[in-house]
Amino acid sequence: MRVCVAGCGTAGPAAALFLARAGHTVTIFERAAALNPVGAGLLIQPTGMAVLSQLGVLDELLQLGHRIERLYGATTAGRPVLDLHYRDLRADLFGLGLHRGALLGTLMRAVHAAGITVRCASELTAIRPAGGGGGREAIVADAAGQAHGPFDLVIIADGARSSLRPDGCRAGVRQYPFGALWFVGQDTSRTFTGTLWQAYHGTGRMLGFLPSGRVTADGPPLTSMFWSIALNRAAAVHAAGLDAWKRDVLAMTPLAAPLLEQVTDTRQLITAGYYDVVARRTFDLSNGAVVCLGDAAHAMSPQLGQGANLALVDAMVLAGCLSEERDLPTALQRFDALRRPGVHYYQFASRWLTPIFQSDLEAVAPLRDMCMGPMCRLPLLRGQMLESLVGIKTGIMPWSRQSLDALAATRRA
Ligand SMILES: Cc1cc2nc3c(=O)[nH]c(=O)nc-3n(C[C@H](O)[C@H](O)[C@H](O)COP(=O)(O)OP(=O)(O)OC[C@H]3O[C@@H](n4cnc5c(N)ncnc54)[C@H](O)[C@@H]3O)c2cc1C
Repeated sequence: MRVCVAGCGTAGPAAALFLARAGHTVTIFERAAALNPVGAGLLIQPTGMAVLSQLGVLDELLQLGHRIERLYGATTAGRPVLDLHYRDLRADLFGLGLHRGALLGTLMRAVHAAGITVRCASELTAIRPAGGGGGREAIVADAAGQAHGPFDLVIIADGARSSLRPDGCRAGVRQYPFGALWFVGQDTSRTFTGTLWQAYHGTGRMLGFLPSGRVTADGPPLTSMFWSIALNRAAAVHAAGLDAWKRDVLAMTPLAAPLLEQVTDTRQLITAGYYDVVARRTFDLSNGAVVCLGDAAHAMSPQLGQGANLALVDAMVLAGCLSEERDLPTALQRFDALRRPGVHYYQFASRWLTPIFQSDLEAVAPLRDMCMGPMCRLPLLRGQMLESLVGIKTGIMPWSRQSLDALAATRRA
């Protein structure tokens, strides 16, 4: 098949690699002029690592990333709210703190080695049926007015604010009122080694640190710092100046000091918004065969650290469906059905959890602070939280999950 991939974030290059290796001819179109190592840290879960292992890039990423064994969150008064160890689910499990640049750089080396064509500075603006309709081939057009194709399949992986999602997928797109200011600095103190560390003050203030490994093998170790913020107050933070912001951060924890020393200008603080995208379905056949992957299909708040993992799993499951089904529409239908339960669960869970940690609903904070610490210690609930964390849950019932066995194969790879 001739496959067009719109977007070179996480889902795009992963899908392109799987499909090129299955013998398809793949072209990636990316809006950005160059694929620079920008962005903050990501926590890659065992499910995402299973996909990266299938792609043959996990070993390289394990060298670059930082092994995360534990999630720890406490109130500024020192009361533990979250304390989860991956090993309590299974001894060999862990998360991987990765800089986005490390993930993209590693995927792109594999993309180039696979001979996949990558067209940067190529923003796609439209998908239309080749030859005016009838068949399933599609032509794509870019912002410069150039047409490309025909393609047998168009993969839409252009992120939460996708401009390419077809009407047939009809997505509801909602921005969360809260997002984050993030900063990536050198990990000089090694304070957070092995831990995704968070501090909470009510629901209005949250500070997080994720050791994020290195972008390149000879680069310095990095830590990403996330400062929760109501998006409509982000401008006020910049206006109040750096010293005021640093005082607020240090009031949450003095452990932030080594990173704060590296922030010399509020322009180093990047604002990230979160989106909740709910697509009616992931595929459409009215203008050629089109399928949405990753955030374009199901963006969610990063509260559970699942977006990039789900994007990677999408790519692997799509490739499996395309290889197992002879008929393209049947393969896309099967993909949609296979991805639905897990995606719905994580969207549901992140929609409920996000306001408990990031909102103006201060009244819920005392309840959260009182209940969540003990919940982490109750074996049944701790197990459910850990299964949610590693990415295997498919519904809210305790038995709704995928097997951990697939992840065991990862560790051996
Ligand atoms: C602050 C923050 C922290 C996060 N932390 C985590 C975490 O710890 N773990 C985790 O799993 N997830 C996390 N996420 C979520 C994760 O970043 C996303 O879910 C993931 O990047 C989605 O990948 P994607 O490929 O679908 O989209 P993206 O990564 O958004 O990539 C889309 C690509 O498409 C390109 N593009 C856009 N429009 C066009 C067009 N018209 N034509 C061509 N190209 C186009 C864009 O330039 C971009 O390169 C976090 C998100 C945020 C905001």
